[in-house]
Amino acid sequence: MHTLDLETMQLRERIFDYARRRMNYDPAPLDGPVTYEHLRSTVPPTVTEKGLGGEAALQLFEDVLAPACISVDHPNYLSFIPSAPTEAATLFDLVVSASTIYGGSWMEGAGAVYAENEVLEWLAAEAGLPLGAGGVFVQGGTLGNLSALVAARHTAQDALTATGLPRPARWRFACSSEAHSSLKAAARVMDVEVVSIPVDHHGRLTGPSLEAALEGDWDGVFAVVATGGTTNFGIVDDLESVGRVTKEHGVWFHIDGAYGVAAMLAPTTKPLFAGMRLADSFIVDPHKWLFAPFDACALIYREPELGRRAHTQHAEYLDALTDANEWNPSDYAYNLTRRPRGLPLWFSLATYGIAEYRAAIETNIRLAHLIAEEIRQRPDLELVRDPQLSVVVFTKKGWTLEDYSRWSAKLLDDGVGFVVPSSHQGAPNTRFAIVNPKTTFEDLTQILDTMI
Ligand SMILES: *Cc1c(COP(=O)(O)O)cnc(C)c1O
Repeated sequence: MHTLDLETMQLRERIFDYARRRMNYDPAPLDGPVTYEHLRSTVPPTVTEKGLGGEAALQLFEDVLAPACISVDHPNYLSFIPSAPTEAATLFDLVVSASTIYGGSWMEGAGAVYAENEVLEWLAAEAGLPLGAGGVFVQGGTLGNLSALVAARHTAQDALTATGLPRPARWRFACSSEAHSSLKAAARVMDVEVVSIPVDHHGRLTGPSLEAALEGDWDGVFAVVATGGTTNFGIVDDLESVGRVTKEHGVWFHIDGAYGVAAMLAPTTKPLFAGMRLADSFIVDPHKWLFAPFDACALIYREPELGRRAHTQHAEYLDALTDANEWNPSDYAYNLTRRPRGLPLWFSLATYGIAEYRAAIETNIRLAHLIAEEIRQRPDLELVRDPQLSVVVFTKKGWTLEDYSRWSAKLLDDGVGFVVPSSHQGAPNTRFAIVNPKTTFEDLTQILDTMI
């Protein structure tokens, strides 16, 4: 396959054309899920001995499969945490795909690793971590949290071994009752306990509540996880007081900022994140609020060496890599082969500059406050809590879960928006998660108008 035959060249053009068409939409149709039975009856067998040929497969994708996926980058996709990659980031994701770069080692991917690391160093500096902090881009926040916690326990284990003290009866880490589900998942994988700490009336984990809940019994506690922007409400824990308590007890301080830590870049919310300088590790997902495509989580350690000790894989066929004294991204998380998934963010930052990022995040936060005010003004709506970042949770008076579900399904059917029901303390509600700079006040008020 060294000469490009006509068919290959045609397929290449068709693929580029499709990518161009998808990117030219402003916005792309919202689209939406269909039933399994529908796809089963519409899509012929595609994975066959002879194959379909690229052209037919692409046609099937464009006509049937792609429209059966919701466009997460639509300005009115407001559920969960959306993703709104910049033009430059999406384009560069194509370049990364076209380049087959092994991003696991310096030997194989030095140029890519260098660029990714510049982004990680910048994020670490924004968080107030000292020079030398660094890490790796992993697939997502779930894997980032797990990798940080594994490094934390490994460090605690090493410290015990060094002092000759016995292992604790049970390893534990503490986080707030509002922390993300991925932390419980990490605890199951690691076979450790989670100490769930009640939040204060602002919904935050604080240093004093952490102290009170543990009642002086820190045995086996190897980490405390604070959330830099909860997924449900966008609440930032009291990072400063939590961080100080962890220092007093010599316990690893991890910050789960998958969604919210991006707001450390915005002038109005920066002060909420001052306590990040105390973190031993933190994560932030570029695919959430740093305008990069799926999937990427920046995992950063104050002392990357502690991550390396916990995660480096040793194998004969890898000796040439592990023996070289170089920065191998694979060594800093639970991963080996990796795509240099930080490059789309790197390229986008290099293209537009950091200031554009600060402004875009600030715009989202301002819109969240504007629409919260609008909701406050409407007698039939009720704000569940004042927004801190860019998540706005509210109820329609008298509505049951069925009312929200019916309304939400129609909104998607009509191609207007994707806003799913949620709940708080057993009561149904709905929420706008705003991370797309193209989302407008008018879009949101129009959606509110449909709640009848
Ligand atoms: C989304 C989220 C996660 C999980 O991140 P994924 O990239 O979906 O794995 C973890 N923590 C918080 C606070 C989140 O918002």
